[in-house]
Amino acid sequence: MLAETSALLASLATIKDLGSALFRERDQQKQAAIQIDLSDKVIHAQAQLSQVLAAVIDKDQTIQTLRDQVRALESAQNERDRYALHRLGDGSEGDYFVYKLRAPADLKERADEPAHFVCQTCFDAGKKSVLVHNGEGYWFCHLCSNGRQVSPRASVGSQTHDPYGRF
Ligand SMILES: [Zn+2]
Repeated sequence: MLAETSALLASLATIKDLGSALFRERDQQKQAAIQIDLSDKVIHAQAQLSQVLAAVIDKDQTIQTLRDQVRALESAQNERDRYALHRLGDGSEGDYFVYKLRAPADLKERADEPAHFVCQTCFDAGKKSVLVHNGEGYWFCHLCSNGRQVSPRASVGSQTHDPYGRF
């Protein structure tokens, strides 16, 4: 856009010079030649102005697209901030990491959302999938089909693990 703007400014300067020359010229033949040249320069400047306006519109669209992307990234980051990495179970059956919704006091919004775990694999890939539980210590993601039996049976409650398997 800088090149288009510079070209337009140069054309406008030329038009100004031709206008001054036309005003000073007393010879009618020379005036006619200057008028023709001036008309050509004005038409050319109009075309250049159209190019500058098109470039401005293009930049505005780019800025809007980038704003939308920043907004989406901020929203995704805010959603991620609502969760903390958490290991389900005591590790006796291997590590099984999930993301756990933070405590209501630590949430800036939607603090009344029920406690839950989301799949770590899916969440890291930008998809949110709440893990489901079969009541016997087995957690499962419907999105990626990953699941794990953990012990003791983990709870989504306020305690890290519920040794009694209560919900
Ligand atoms: Zn998953």
